Amino acid sequence: MTPRILVIEDEERIRQFLKRGLTYENYVVDTAIDGKDGLEKARDTPPDLVLLDIMLPGMDGFEVCRRLRAASDVPILMLTAKEAIEDRVAGLDAGADDYLVKPFSFDELLARVRALLRRAQPSQPQVHRFSDLELDTGTRQGRRGGETFDLTAKEYELLELFMRNPRQVLTRDVIFDRVWGYDFGGGSNIIEVYVRYLRQKTEGEDLPRLIHTVRGVGYVLRESDA
Ligand code: CA
Repeated sequence: MTPRILVIEDEERIRQFLKRGLTYENYVVDTAIDGKDGLEKARDTPPDLVLLDIMLPGMDGFEVCRRLRAASDVPILMLTAKEAIEDRVAGLDAGADDYLVKPFSFDELLARVRALLRRAQPSQPQVHRFSDLELDTGTRQGRRGGETFDLTAKEYELLELFMRNPRQVLTRDVIFDRVWGYDFGGGSNIIEVYVRYLRQKTEGEDLPRLIHTVRGVGYVLRESDA
């Protein structure tokens, strides 16, 4: 039942970024470092979706796309380093379903991935629940202690990350990757700032803390100690 995603990307940093983030989202992730490797893996273990870089050593992404498409209807999301419109057109001509221009945020990517998987298998908006906190993926609002609150885009992404991974310590690196993307400069206090915003919204006047600091590591969503 868990969707399987095949990442075909020669650049180690981006390949690992994608694998780490998608694994956190509970997808099963296979990786390939070039087109030949990718086509073999797609044949041996058919994926539910392919993330395909265009600029690959040897066989380029367009050719890989054509060959994948010749063999199956698997959704293909192409990654391009260039803004070039020709890439987009060529990718769609080759049978890709969608494309994403680098640099992209993980959240953007995840939205495209979900949309493509949804097209194959429709699903409804859901409400994440943890303790007495709720997060509605349809309205993108939170609710706690009888109060509904709005969230900015980044607040929503951060809270959704916590809600999808309750009681797991999320390291600062994972949070940066997932909410701000790999191109975001490190060393900033932006996570602290957004955690503070979320605490203000989720704790109201005097509700027990749910987003806890794990000193020197990151944050965790869990019930307060009794
Ligand atoms: Ca590449």
